[in-house]
Amino acid sequence: MFNLQSIVRNNIQALLPYSSARDEFKGTSGVFLDANENPFGTLNRYPDPYQTDLKSKIASLKNVRSEQIFIGNGSDEVIDLAFRIFCQPREDKALTFSPTYGMYDVSAAINEVSLTKIPLTDSFQIDSDAVLPLLKDSFLKIIFICSPNNPTGNTLSKNAIETILKNFNGIVIIDEAYIDFSPSESWLRKLNDYPNLMVCQTFSKAWGLAAARVGMAFASEEIIRLLNKVKPPYNVSELNQKAALEAVSNTAQFQKNLEQIKTQKEALQTALQELKLVVKVYPSEANFLLVEVINATKIYSDLVTQKIITRNRNSLVANCIRISVGTPSENKKLLTALKNIES
Ligand SMILES: *Cc1c(COP(=O)(O)O)cnc(C)c1O
Repeated sequence: MFNLQSIVRNNIQALLPYSSARDEFKGTSGVFLDANENPFGTLNRYPDPYQTDLKSKIASLKNVRSEQIFIGNGSDEVIDLAFRIFCQPREDKALTFSPTYGMYDVSAAINEVSLTKIPLTDSFQIDSDAVLPLLKDSFLKIIFICSPNNPTGNTLSKNAIETILKNFNGIVIIDEAYIDFSPSESWLRKLNDYPNLMVCQTFSKAWGLAAARVGMAFASEEIIRLLNKVKPPYNVSELNQKAALEAVSNTAQFQKNLEQIKTQKEALQTALQELKLVVKVYPSEANFLLVEVINATKIYSDLVTQKIITRNRNSLVANCIRISVGTPSENKKLLTALKNIES
């Protein structure tokens, strides 16, 4: 049986969170002499610590309750907070499936938590037989599942994920940074079925706001309360909240950009497959393509010479580079550069 309190670190359970000046008075009109702010200026006031307006927009967009939403300074903040809430440094463990997003590793190392990496199968799927025995380890507190996965671009099998959710008494974090590009259904719909499920999404990719640093976590109210308890009081600036609020208020533009990226991805995939130096283009449900080439490290640096920057993923998947889908003119430049390398 999953018991949330039993996996929360003792110091976090005992923690008296910082009570910010704006926790006590909820109104917006008043004479605010409580927070030692400067009375002059336009960005002089501390932002809403709980991002109420943004959460209410996201709640209706995603069909969840505001109390099930946490907003972080990028989803990277959510990952770090999860380690700090659930993993006792030098004692507890986390697990993920490789190759995947590099931040789980970095964040685990910063928090002195050992991260077990189970290789995905040849078709980049979870090997259930390899994970199942590990789920009983009482020191294992978090499992990270990135779906659609970075850098492979595929979604991970629903059955394999459900098996983990059902058989693991720790937290399962499904990182859906690329879900808006994918035809697959989000795990948000399962939030009420699994008390150990956390879903992460971000404004950095499909919403086009990587510079603003706004990440989302969706989970039970109890998990959200823990994230709120541990976060820095004003973790999302007023500028960032406004940028995200503006984006979610203009979903027509969002849809239009998504369609364009999808069309461009298909065109790019077809064009890449015709090149002699391309061995294979993996199917992708994200806004990037994992491309196997004849020599990734050489082609990667030849592209840099032509001022085209891709991601050399040779160390993760042999001879693969990861290419983000750009504008039509950027994609054309990439193809021209690759043809130059071929000739
Ligand atoms: C890009 C990306 C993110 C985004 O992180 P932010 O901190 O929100 O910018 C999260 N997870 C994965 C797998 C990514 O590729």
